[in-house]
Amino acid sequence: MASQLQPARGTRDLVGEDFARHHHVITTARRIASLYGFEEWATPIFEDTRVFSRSLGETSDVVSKEMYTFPDRGGDSLTLRPEGTAGICRALVSNGLTQGNLPRKVFYAGPMFRYERPQKGRYRQFHQIGCEILGASEPLSDAEAIACGWHIQEELGISAGTVLEINTLGDAASRDAHRAALVSYFSGHREALSADSQTRLEKNPLRILDSKDPGDKALVADAPSIHDHLTEAARAHYDAVRRFLDGFGVPFRVNPNIVRGLDYYSHTAFEFVTDRLGAQGTVMAGGRYDGLVEEMGGPHTPSVGWAAGIERLSMLCEAAPAAPRPVAVIPVGEGAEAAAISAVQLLRRAGVAAEVAYKGNTKRRMERANKLNARAAVLIGEDEAARGVAQLKDLDAGTQREVALAELATALAGG
Ligand code: ATP
Ligand code: MG
Repeated sequence: MASQLQPARGTRDLVGEDFARHHHVITTARRIASLYGFEEWATPIFEDTRVFSRSLGETSDVVSKEMYTFPDRGGDSLTLRPEGTAGICRALVSNGLTQGNLPRKVFYAGPMFRYERPQKGRYRQFHQIGCEILGASEPLSDAEAIACGWHIQEELGISAGTVLEINTLGDAASRDAHRAALVSYFSGHREALSADSQTRLEKNPLRILDSKDPGDKALVADAPSIHDHLTEAARAHYDAVRRFLDGFGVPFRVNPNIVRGLDYYSHTAFEFVTDRLGAQGTVMAGGRYDGLVEEMGGPHTPSVGWAAGIERLSMLCEAAPAAPRPVAVIPVGEGAEAAAISAVQLLRRAGVAAEVAYKGNTKRRMERANKLNARAAVLIGEDEAARGVAQLKDLDAGTQREVALAELATALAGG
Protein backbone atom coordinates (compact mmCIF):
# COMPACT_ATOMS: atom_id res chain seq x y z
CA MET A 1 0.00 0.00 0.00
CA ALA A 2 1.21 3.50 -0.77
CA SER A 3 1.70 5.91 2.13
CA GLN A 4 -1.45 7.65 3.30
CA LEU A 5 -1.92 11.24 2.25
CA GLN A 6 -3.23 13.89 4.63
CA PRO A 7 -5.05 17.16 3.96
CA ALA A 8 -2.60 20.06 3.48
CA ARG A 9 -1.60 21.95 6.65
CA GLY A 10 -4.31 24.34 7.78
CA THR A 11 -7.05 22.68 5.69
CA ARG A 12 -9.71 20.26 6.86
CA ASP A 13 -12.29 17.91 5.44
CA LEU A 14 -15.93 18.57 6.15
CA VAL A 15 -17.31 15.13 6.81
CA GLY A 16 -20.40 13.95 8.70
CA GLU A 17 -21.39 16.24 11.58
CA ASP A 18 -18.78 18.86 10.54
CA PHE A 19 -20.42 19.23 7.15
CA ALA A 20 -23.91 19.22 8.68
CA ARG A 21 -23.00 22.16 10.93
CA HIS A 22 -21.27 24.02 8.12
CA HIS A 23 -24.30 23.58 5.88
CA HIS A 24 -26.67 24.60 8.69
CA VAL A 25 -24.78 27.88 9.19
CA ILE A 26 -24.94 28.72 5.49
CA THR A 27 -28.59 27.81 4.95
CA THR A 28 -29.65 29.70 8.09
CA ALA A 29 -27.67 32.79 7.09
CA ARG A 30 -28.99 32.64 3.53
CA ARG A 31 -32.59 32.39 4.74
CA ILE A 32 -32.31 35.30 7.18
CA ALA A 33 -30.34 37.49 4.75
CA SER A 34 -33.07 37.04 2.14
CA LEU A 35 -35.59 38.45 4.66
CA TYR A 36 -33.51 41.63 4.62
CA GLY A 37 -33.46 41.75 0.82
CA PHE A 38 -29.98 40.33 0.23
CA GLU A 39 -29.49 38.51 -3.09
CA GLU A 40 -26.72 35.90 -3.29
CA TRP A 41 -23.65 36.27 -5.51
CA ALA A 42 -20.73 33.95 -6.11
CA THR A 43 -17.46 35.42 -7.36
CA PRO A 44 -14.33 33.48 -8.41
CA ILE A 45 -12.06 31.94 -5.79
CA PHE A 46 -9.02 33.50 -7.46
CA GLU A 47 -8.67 37.03 -8.75
CA ASP A 48 -6.08 39.31 -10.30
CA THR A 49 -3.75 40.02 -7.37
CA ARG A 50 -4.44 43.76 -7.67
CA VAL A 51 -8.05 43.22 -6.55
CA PHE A 52 -6.64 42.61 -3.07
CA SER A 53 -3.33 44.49 -3.04
CA ARG A 54 -5.03 47.74 -4.06
CA SER A 55 -7.87 47.53 -1.61
CA LEU A 56 -6.79 45.77 1.58
CA GLY A 57 -3.64 47.87 1.93
CA GLU A 58 -0.03 46.83 1.20
CA THR A 59 0.82 47.04 4.90
CA SER A 60 -2.13 44.99 6.18
CA ASP A 61 -1.22 41.57 7.62
CA VAL A 62 -3.32 39.91 4.96
CA VAL A 63 -1.51 41.46 2.00
CA SER A 64 1.97 41.57 3.52
CA LYS A 65 2.11 38.00 4.85
CA GLU A 66 -1.00 35.93 4.33
CA MET A 67 -1.93 35.85 0.64
CA TYR A 68 -1.60 32.80 -1.59
CA THR A 69 -0.23 34.57 -4.65
CA PHE A 70 1.16 32.80 -7.69
CA PRO A 71 1.95 33.48 -11.35
CA ASP A 72 -0.37 31.48 -13.58
CA ARG A 73 0.93 29.84 -16.75
CA GLY A 74 0.20 32.94 -18.76
CA GLY A 75 2.36 35.06 -16.44
CA ASP A 76 -0.48 36.95 -14.70
CA SER A 77 -0.27 37.30 -10.95
CA LEU A 78 -3.27 35.61 -9.33
CA THR A 79 -4.30 35.37 -5.68
CA LEU A 80 -6.60 32.94 -3.89
CA ARG A 81 -9.11 35.27 -2.31
CA PRO A 82 -8.31 36.03 1.36
CA GLU A 83 -11.70 37.69 1.90
CA GLY A 84 -14.93 38.33 0.00
CA THR A 85 -15.62 42.05 -0.05
CA ALA A 86 -12.99 43.12 -2.60
CA GLY A 87 -14.27 40.53 -5.12
CA ILE A 88 -17.89 41.61 -4.62
CA CYS A 89 -16.94 45.25 -5.28
CA ARG A 90 -14.90 44.20 -8.32
CA ALA A 91 -17.94 42.24 -9.55
CA LEU A 92 -20.25 45.22 -9.07
CA VAL A 93 -17.99 47.22 -11.39
CA SER A 94 -17.24 44.38 -13.87
CA ASN A 95 -20.96 43.68 -14.32
CA GLY A 96 -21.84 47.32 -14.92
CA LEU A 97 -24.06 47.48 -11.85
CA THR A 98 -22.77 50.72 -10.37
CA GLN A 99 -25.46 52.88 -11.96
CA GLY A 100 -29.09 52.76 -10.90
CA ASN A 101 -30.83 50.21 -8.74
CA LEU A 102 -28.64 51.03 -5.73
CA PRO A 103 -28.36 50.20 -2.94
CA ARG A 104 -27.78 46.57 -3.76
CA LYS A 105 -27.67 44.04 -0.96
CA VAL A 106 -25.41 41.07 -1.60
CA PHE A 107 -24.94 37.86 0.40
CA TYR A 108 -22.12 35.40 -0.25
CA ALA A 109 -20.69 32.21 1.22
CA GLY A 110 -17.54 30.36 0.32
CA PRO A 111 -13.93 29.42 0.98
CA MET A 112 -11.18 31.96 1.71
CA PHE A 113 -7.42 31.39 1.89
CA ARG A 114 -4.80 32.90 4.17
CA TYR A 115 -1.31 31.68 4.92
CA GLU A 116 -1.57 31.74 8.73
CA ARG A 117 -0.27 29.63 11.58
CA PRO A 118 -3.06 27.06 11.96
CA GLN A 119 -4.73 26.66 15.35
CA LYS A 120 -8.22 26.05 16.69
CA GLY A 121 -10.55 28.37 14.77
CA ARG A 122 -7.76 29.52 12.44
CA TYR A 123 -7.13 27.72 9.18
CA ARG A 124 -5.45 28.32 5.83
CA GLN A 125 -8.60 27.42 3.97
CA PHE A 126 -11.55 28.67 5.94
CA HIS A 127 -15.06 29.72 4.99
CA GLN A 128 -17.02 32.89 5.37
CA ILE A 129 -20.55 34.10 5.02
CA GLY A 130 -20.89 37.80 4.36
CA CYS A 131 -23.38 40.57 3.68
CA GLU A 132 -22.66 43.79 1.78
CA ILE A 133 -24.92 46.80 1.24
CA LEU A 134 -23.47 48.54 -1.80
CA GLY A 135 -24.29 52.13 -2.62
CA ALA A 136 -25.70 53.40 0.68
CA SER A 137 -24.05 56.05 2.86
CA GLU A 138 -26.84 56.43 5.41
CA PRO A 139 -26.21 55.28 8.97
CA LEU A 140 -29.42 53.26 8.81
CA SER A 141 -27.66 50.95 6.34
CA ASP A 142 -24.78 50.34 8.78
CA ALA A 143 -27.28 49.44 11.49
CA GLU A 144 -29.34 47.23 9.20
CA ALA A 145 -26.29 45.24 8.06
CA ILE A 146 -25.37 44.67 11.70
CA ALA A 147 -28.97 43.80 12.63
CA CYS A 148 -29.01 41.12 9.93
CA GLY A 149 -25.77 39.64 11.30
CA TRP A 150 -27.21 39.63 14.81
CA HIS A 151 -30.45 38.04 13.58
CA ILE A 152 -28.43 35.23 11.96
CA GLN A 153 -26.63 34.62 15.26
CA GLU A 154 -29.95 34.58 17.11
CA GLU A 155 -31.35 32.09 14.63
CA LEU A 156 -28.25 29.90 15.06
CA GLY A 157 -28.85 29.97 18.81
CA ILE A 158 -25.45 31.50 19.62
CA SER A 159 -26.33 35.11 20.39
CA ALA A 160 -26.25 34.57 24.18
CA GLY A 161 -22.51 33.96 23.86
CA THR A 162 -21.53 36.85 21.59
CA VAL A 163 -21.29 40.61 22.12
CA LEU A 164 -21.29 43.35 19.52
CA GLU A 165 -18.44 45.83 19.98
CA ILE A 166 -18.61 48.96 17.89
CA ASN A 167 -16.38 51.89 17.12
CA THR A 168 -15.93 54.61 14.55
CA LEU A 169 -12.83 55.16 12.45
CA GLY A 170 -14.08 58.57 11.37
CA ASP A 171 -13.98 60.04 7.88
CA ALA A 172 -10.89 61.04 5.89
CA ALA A 173 -10.48 64.39 7.67
CA SER A 174 -10.85 62.77 11.12
CA ARG A 175 -8.29 60.16 10.17
CA ASP A 176 -5.78 62.71 8.87
CA ALA A 177 -5.91 64.57 12.17
CA HIS A 178 -5.72 61.31 14.10
CA ARG A 179 -2.82 60.04 12.02
CA ALA A 180 -0.82 63.20 12.73
CA ALA A 181 -1.45 62.79 16.46
CA LEU A 182 -0.44 59.12 16.30
CA VAL A 183 2.78 59.84 14.43
CA SER A 184 3.81 62.39 17.00
CA TYR A 185 2.89 60.05 19.90
CA PHE A 186 4.54 56.89 18.54
CA SER A 187 7.62 58.81 17.34
CA GLY A 188 8.20 59.67 21.00
CA HIS A 189 8.19 55.90 21.77
CA ARG A 190 9.94 54.66 18.65
CA GLU A 191 12.53 52.55 20.51
CA ALA A 192 9.83 50.68 22.42
CA LEU A 193 7.89 49.69 19.28
CA SER A 194 8.26 46.27 17.67
CA ALA A 195 10.24 46.16 14.43
CA ASP A 196 7.00 45.66 12.48
CA SER A 197 5.45 48.70 14.08
CA GLN A 198 8.51 50.86 13.42
CA THR A 199 7.93 50.11 9.75
CA ARG A 200 4.19 50.79 10.19
CA LEU A 201 5.06 54.17 11.71
CA GLU A 202 6.62 55.11 8.37
CA LYS A 203 4.04 53.51 6.10
CA ASN A 204 0.72 53.37 7.94
CA PRO A 205 0.74 54.41 11.60
CA LEU A 206 -2.92 53.43 12.11
CA ARG A 207 -1.87 49.80 11.62
CA ILE A 208 0.06 49.98 14.91
CA LEU A 209 -3.30 50.14 16.70
CA ASP A 210 -4.08 46.65 15.36
CA SER A 211 -0.71 45.16 16.41
CA LYS A 212 -0.79 41.87 18.32
CA ASP A 213 2.67 42.49 19.86
CA PRO A 214 2.32 42.83 23.69
CA GLY A 215 4.80 45.74 23.90
CA ASP A 216 2.95 47.60 21.14
CA LYS A 217 -0.36 46.89 22.85
CA ALA A 218 0.84 48.59 26.02
CA LEU A 219 1.76 51.70 24.05
CA VAL A 220 -1.50 51.57 22.10
CA ALA A 221 -3.47 51.71 25.34
CA ASP A 222 -2.36 55.31 25.88
CA ALA A 223 -2.30 56.40 22.23
CA PRO A 224 -4.40 59.34 21.07
CA SER A 225 -7.96 58.27 20.29
CA ILE A 226 -9.85 58.87 17.06
CA HIS A 227 -12.66 60.11 19.26
CA ASP A 228 -10.69 63.28 20.01
CA HIS A 229 -10.33 63.99 16.29
CA LEU A 230 -13.79 63.29 14.86
CA THR A 231 -15.28 65.82 12.49
CA GLU A 232 -18.84 66.86 13.18
CA ALA A 233 -20.13 64.75 10.27
CA ALA A 234 -18.25 61.67 11.46
CA ARG A 235 -19.60 62.08 14.97
CA ALA A 236 -23.15 62.51 13.68
CA HIS A 237 -22.86 59.31 11.62
CA TYR A 238 -21.57 57.36 14.60
CA ASP A 239 -24.31 58.68 16.90
CA ALA A 240 -26.99 57.79 14.37
CA VAL A 241 -25.69 54.24 13.87
CA ARG A 242 -25.89 53.59 17.61
CA ARG A 243 -29.36 55.12 17.80
CA PHE A 244 -30.57 52.87 14.97
CA LEU A 245 -29.01 49.81 16.62
CA ASP A 246 -31.19 50.56 19.61
CA GLY A 247 -34.13 50.77 17.20
CA PHE A 248 -33.29 47.35 15.75
CA GLY A 249 -32.96 45.97 19.27
CA VAL A 250 -29.31 44.99 18.84
CA PRO A 251 -27.35 45.24 22.11
CA PHE A 252 -23.79 46.57 21.79
CA ARG A 253 -20.91 48.05 23.71
CA VAL A 254 -18.52 50.71 22.53
CA ASN A 255 -14.89 49.60 22.13
CA PRO A 256 -12.66 52.50 21.05
CA ASN A 257 -9.82 50.06 20.29
CA ILE A 258 -11.45 48.37 17.31
CA VAL A 259 -9.56 49.39 14.20
CA ARG A 260 -9.98 46.35 11.90
CA GLY A 261 -7.09 44.83 10.00
CA LEU A 262 -7.89 46.08 6.51
CA ASP A 263 -7.30 49.54 5.09
CA TYR A 264 -10.60 50.06 3.35
CA TYR A 265 -12.73 50.85 6.39
CA SER A 266 -14.01 54.27 7.49
CA HIS A 267 -16.72 55.39 9.91
CA THR A 268 -18.32 52.29 11.46
CA ALA A 269 -16.14 49.35 12.52
CA PHE A 270 -17.50 46.47 14.56
CA GLU A 271 -16.84 42.94 15.76
CA PHE A 272 -19.02 40.32 17.36
CA VAL A 273 -16.77 38.68 19.94
CA THR A 274 -17.09 35.65 22.19
CA ASP A 275 -15.10 34.27 25.11
CA ARG A 276 -16.02 30.71 24.14
CA LEU A 277 -13.37 30.17 21.45
CA GLY A 278 -10.13 30.99 23.26
CA ALA A 279 -7.81 33.32 21.37
CA GLN A 280 -9.94 33.24 18.20
CA GLY A 281 -12.64 35.38 19.78
CA THR A 282 -13.96 37.33 16.79
CA VAL A 283 -16.77 35.54 14.97
CA MET A 284 -18.20 38.27 12.76
CA ALA A 285 -16.57 41.54 11.76
CA GLY A 286 -17.04 44.39 9.37
CA GLY A 287 -17.65 48.04 8.82
CA ARG A 288 -18.15 50.83 6.33
CA TYR A 289 -15.94 50.98 3.25
CA ASP A 290 -16.77 54.04 1.21
CA GLY A 291 -13.75 54.04 -1.12
CA LEU A 292 -13.48 50.41 -2.17
CA VAL A 293 -15.65 50.38 -5.31
CA GLU A 294 -13.65 53.38 -6.57
CA GLU A 295 -10.44 51.39 -6.03
CA MET A 296 -11.90 48.81 -8.43
CA GLY A 297 -12.37 51.47 -11.08
CA GLY A 298 -16.01 52.28 -10.36
CA PRO A 299 -17.68 55.50 -9.23
CA HIS A 300 -17.85 56.61 -5.60
CA THR A 301 -20.12 53.98 -4.00
CA PRO A 302 -20.31 54.13 -0.21
CA SER A 303 -20.92 50.68 1.23
CA VAL A 304 -21.06 48.71 4.45
CA GLY A 305 -20.86 45.01 5.30
CA TRP A 306 -19.45 42.20 7.37
CA ALA A 307 -18.01 38.72 7.13
CA ALA A 308 -18.17 35.85 9.59
CA GLY A 309 -16.06 32.72 9.86
CA ILE A 310 -18.27 29.67 9.33
CA GLU A 311 -15.87 27.44 11.32
CA ARG A 312 -16.12 29.74 14.35
CA LEU A 313 -19.92 30.01 14.06
CA SER A 314 -20.17 26.22 13.71
CA MET A 315 -18.11 25.66 16.85
CA LEU A 316 -20.51 27.85 18.82
CA CYS A 317 -23.63 26.09 17.51
CA GLU A 318 -25.31 23.18 19.20
CA ALA A 319 -25.63 20.15 16.93
CA ALA A 320 -27.00 20.73 13.44
CA PRO A 321 -30.59 19.63 12.81
CA ALA A 322 -30.66 15.91 12.06
CA ALA A 323 -31.21 14.67 8.52
CA PRO A 324 -34.72 13.24 7.92
CA ARG A 325 -35.05 9.61 9.00
CA PRO A 326 -35.54 7.40 5.96
CA VAL A 327 -38.14 4.77 5.21
CA ALA A 328 -36.65 1.33 4.44
CA VAL A 329 -38.34 -0.55 1.62
CA ILE A 330 -37.82 -4.29 1.97
CA PRO A 331 -38.61 -6.86 -0.70
CA VAL A 332 -39.66 -10.16 0.84
CA GLY A 333 -38.41 -12.82 -1.59
CA GLU A 334 -36.51 -12.27 -4.84
CA GLY A 335 -39.60 -11.97 -7.01
CA ALA A 336 -40.57 -8.77 -5.13
CA GLU A 337 -37.43 -6.77 -5.87
CA ALA A 338 -38.87 -4.89 -8.87
CA ALA A 339 -41.95 -3.88 -6.85
CA ALA A 340 -39.69 -2.69 -4.01
CA ILE A 341 -37.61 -0.57 -6.38
CA SER A 342 -40.68 1.08 -7.85
CA ALA A 343 -42.04 1.72 -4.33
CA VAL A 344 -38.79 3.37 -3.18
CA GLN A 345 -38.81 5.63 -6.25
CA LEU A 346 -42.48 6.49 -5.69
CA LEU A 347 -41.62 7.63 -2.17
CA ARG A 348 -38.55 9.65 -3.22
CA ARG A 349 -40.55 11.40 -5.93
CA ALA A 350 -43.11 12.31 -3.29
CA GLY A 351 -40.34 13.91 -1.20
CA VAL A 352 -40.00 11.07 1.32
CA ALA A 353 -36.43 9.91 2.10
CA ALA A 354 -36.35 6.18 1.30
CA GLU A 355 -33.76 3.42 0.99
CA VAL A 356 -33.68 -0.06 -0.46
CA ALA A 357 -30.75 -2.24 0.63
CA TYR A 358 -28.58 -3.62 -2.19
CA LYS A 359 -28.63 -7.19 -0.91
CA GLY A 360 -29.59 -9.54 1.90
CA ASN A 361 -32.55 -11.55 3.14
CA THR A 362 -35.47 -9.98 4.99
CA LYS A 363 -33.78 -10.28 8.38
CA ARG A 364 -30.55 -8.66 7.16
CA ARG A 365 -32.51 -5.87 5.53
CA MET A 366 -34.42 -5.21 8.74
CA GLU A 367 -31.09 -4.96 10.58
CA ARG A 368 -29.87 -2.53 7.95
CA ALA A 369 -33.07 -0.48 8.38
CA ASN A 370 -32.38 -0.22 12.11
CA LYS A 371 -28.78 0.85 11.43
CA LEU A 372 -30.09 3.63 9.22
CA ASN A 373 -32.41 4.68 12.04
CA ALA A 374 -35.33 4.22 9.63
CA ARG A 375 -38.67 5.42 10.98
CA ALA A 376 -40.69 2.86 9.04
CA ALA A 377 -40.26 -0.27 6.96
CA VAL A 378 -42.31 -1.02 3.88
CA LEU A 379 -42.41 -4.80 3.32
CA ILE A 380 -43.46 -6.04 -0.11
CA GLY A 381 -43.71 -9.74 -0.98
CA GLU A 382 -44.80 -11.24 -4.30
CA ASP A 383 -48.33 -11.60 -2.98
CA GLU A 384 -48.47 -7.93 -1.88
CA ALA A 385 -46.99 -6.82 -5.20
CA ALA A 386 -49.67 -8.72 -7.08
CA ARG A 387 -52.41 -7.09 -4.96
CA GLY A 388 -50.87 -3.58 -5.22
CA VAL A 389 -50.32 -3.25 -1.45
CA ALA A 390 -47.48 -3.28 1.11
CA GLN A 391 -47.10 -3.94 4.82
CA LEU A 392 -46.23 -0.65 6.50
CA LYS A 393 -44.40 -1.12 9.79
CA ASP A 394 -43.87 1.81 12.13
CA LEU A 395 -40.44 1.01 13.60
CA ASP A 396 -40.89 3.28 16.62
CA ALA A 397 -44.36 2.06 17.65
CA GLY A 398 -43.83 -1.49 16.36
CA THR A 399 -47.31 -1.46 14.75
CA GLN A 400 -48.01 -2.84 11.28
CA ARG A 401 -50.83 -2.34 8.79
CA GLU A 402 -51.56 -2.99 5.15
CA VAL A 403 -51.54 0.03 2.86
CA ALA A 404 -52.34 0.30 -0.86
CA LEU A 405 -49.18 1.24 -2.83
CA ALA A 406 -51.11 4.19 -4.24
CA GLU A 407 -51.62 5.47 -0.66
CA LEU A 408 -48.08 4.79 0.53
CA ALA A 409 -46.59 8.26 -0.04
CA THR A 410 -49.53 9.95 1.69
CA ALA A 411 -49.28 7.57 4.62
CA LEU A 412 -45.59 8.42 5.06
CA ALA A 413 -45.66 12.13 4.21
CA GLY A 414 -44.51 14.67 6.79
CA GLY A 415 -42.23 12.27 8.66
P1 ATP B 1 -8.40 37.57 13.30
O1 ATP B 1 -8.17 38.77 14.13
O2 ATP B 1 -9.02 36.41 14.06
O3 ATP B 1 -7.21 37.16 12.49
P2 ATP B 1 -9.38 39.03 11.03
O4 ATP B 1 -9.53 40.41 11.52
O5 ATP B 1 -8.19 38.66 10.24
O6 ATP B 1 -9.54 37.98 12.25
P3 ATP B 1 -11.50 39.32 9.11
O7 ATP B 1 -10.60 39.54 7.97
O8 ATP B 1 -12.27 40.45 9.66
O9 ATP B 1 -10.70 38.57 10.27
O10 ATP B 1 -12.52 38.13 8.76
C1 ATP B 1 -13.82 38.04 9.35
C2 ATP B 1 -13.99 36.73 10.08
O11 ATP B 1 -13.50 35.64 9.35
C3 ATP B 1 -13.24 36.65 11.39
O12 ATP B 1 -13.93 37.29 12.41
C4 ATP B 1 -13.20 35.15 11.61
O13 ATP B 1 -14.44 34.68 12.13
C5 ATP B 1 -13.02 34.64 10.23
N1 ATP B 1 -11.61 34.34 9.94
C6 ATP B 1 -10.64 35.18 9.55
N2 ATP B 1 -9.48 34.54 9.35
C7 ATP B 1 -9.72 33.22 9.61
C8 ATP B 1 -8.94 32.02 9.57
N3 ATP B 1 -7.67 32.03 9.19
N4 ATP B 1 -9.54 30.85 9.92
C9 ATP B 1 -10.84 30.81 10.29
N5 ATP B 1 -11.63 31.90 10.34
C10 ATP B 1 -11.09 33.09 10.00
MG1 MG C 1 -6.36 37.70 10.67
